Amino acid sequence: MTGAGSVITVHAVPLVLPVEDPCSFCAYLAGQRRYSVLEHGSLTALLVTIEQRGLGHVLAVPVEHRVTVFDLTRAEAADLMDASIRAATAIRDAYDPEGIAVWQNNGTAANQSIPHVHVHVHIAGTVPGGETRWGDVPRQTFDQTDEIAQTLRRHLPPPE
Ligand SMILES: [Zn+2]
Repeated sequence: MTGAGSVITVHAVPLVLPVEDPCSFCAYLAGQRRYSVLEHGSLTALLVTIEQRGLGHVLAVPVEHRVTVFDLTRAEAADLMDASIRAATAIRDAYDPEGIAVWQNNGTAANQSIPHVHVHVHIAGTVPGGETRWGDVPRQTFDQTDEIAQTLRRHLPPPE
């Protein structure tokens, strides 16, 4: 138990990272594998995932292959957050939800499954209990994710 004046020990253990070779996000961004792309900027891309864990589920990813947030340049980090907030704005204005979740995982212990930074942005409260839908979710077709991308694109603020 910690309290005022207590010392918190931080262990310098490296993160355990997922392994995937080749990287699926890099393959999507290179056009080698199909995916619904909401926006492909110079530093950040916005993808509409086939695993919708909340309505309008978008993934904001750096265009360059970066495994965790600790690997991002300052410019990439700033652009990634800006793009995530623009995606959240599009979701808010397209669907008028009561809540929007923005989350990001580093390391398998934190449920990172693909070794390429991705910020999840989606409506919260679309499943019973009002939380993110974890585990296996029904996979959307590309027609369905393309339609979500079209809806969001109408509300996506332009980059600065
Ligand atoms: Zn990658």
